[in-house]
Amino acid sequence: MKRAVMLDRDGTLIEEAGYLDRLERLVFFPYTVDAVRLLNQAGFVVVVATNQSGIARGLVEEAFVHEAHEHITARLAAGGARVDGYYYCPHHPDAVREAYRQRCDCRKPAPGLLHRAAADLQIDLPRSFVVGDRLQDLEAGAAVGARGVLVRTGYGRLTEKAPQPDAPPAAVVDNLIEAVSWILRQS
Ligand SMILES: [Mg+2]
Ligand SMILES: [Zn+2]
Repeated sequence: MKRAVMLDRDGTLIEEAGYLDRLERLVFFPYTVDAVRLLNQAGFVVVVATNQSGIARGLVEEAFVHEAHEHITARLAAGGARVDGYYYCPHHPDAVREAYRQRCDCRKPAPGLLHRAAADLQIDLPRSFVVGDRLQDLEAGAAVGARGVLVRTGYGRLTEKAPQPDAPPAAVVDNLIEAVSWILRQS
């Protein structure tokens, strides 16, 4: 069983772009590659877990989500970094696309994506971390017993001001590279 760092995508691993629907709008932070490589080198499984309700809402094609993740993989590989698994929820209870209209178990704050990653990649969830910019990221992490780190990028500054009684983060930091730095100091 391995320790993992399970990263939110939009606003955490890459810039928040509303509903990301074109590669031209996919922007890495200056530290994204370094952050992921440091986690790889420390022996963490690195997972991306992302709500992509833009698919359900008819704003994003599911094929584009795969394309975006392939693009991220290539950029990371060029810098010697690697994501071990991408998990996304395409659903929404009020979806305009009927095929995706459901109350699923994978839209964060539900923990379905994290459970799926744990089963696929032999992750020890209580010894793992979740990093995200929204309350739903922290809640999903809390639901599986992982420690949560809130970043101030994306919606993080707004999230920091909101009460988080059910999922208080273990740490609040400016961005992903600081989150990685904090995580590496915990072991
Ligand atoms: Mg986010
Ligand atoms: Zn879902």
